[in-house]
Amino acid sequence: MENQKNYNVAEIGPLENITRVVLRDKLFLTGAEISANRIPAGKSSPFAHAHKRNEEIYLITSGKGLFWLDGTIIPVKEGSAVRVSPSCVRSIKADESEALSYFCVQVDSGSLIQATREDGIISDIKPDW
Ligand code: ZN
Repeated sequence: MENQKNYNVAEIGPLENITRVVLRDKLFLTGAEISANRIPAGKSSPFAHAHKRNEEIYLITSGKGLFWLDGTIIPVKEGSAVRVSPSCVRSIKADESEALSYFCVQVDSGSLIQATREDGIISDIKPDW
C-alpha cells in the first residue's frame, strides 16, 4: 500500500446501504481507524468487546438505540457522541423501530498532544471561490 498524495478521498455511498465500512485502507489513515456502521432495527453488535490500547469515539448519525457500557445502559440518538475507554466492555443495539448509523473513530488512548489551536496553521494560500 502506497500513498503519494497529500490527501485521499473515499466514497462509501449512502450510509443507509452499508453494514460496515472500514476507512483505514481506503484513506491511508496513519493515526486513527474510522469505520462507518449501520445496525438494522432490533439488531445489536454481534459481540461485546473492549480494546487493548484504543479508545473509541462513536458519533451517531441517524436512528436511535442503546449503548451497554460496563453494564450501564445509556440511550443514544442522532447527534450523540460517546467516548469509550479501552478497557470498557461495550455493545451497541439499534432501537426496535429504526436502524442505527454511526461512525466509530479509534485512536491510541492518550496520544493526542496537540489539537486545532496548537496544531493549525493559517495559510496565505486560499481558494478563490
Ligand atoms: Zn471496538
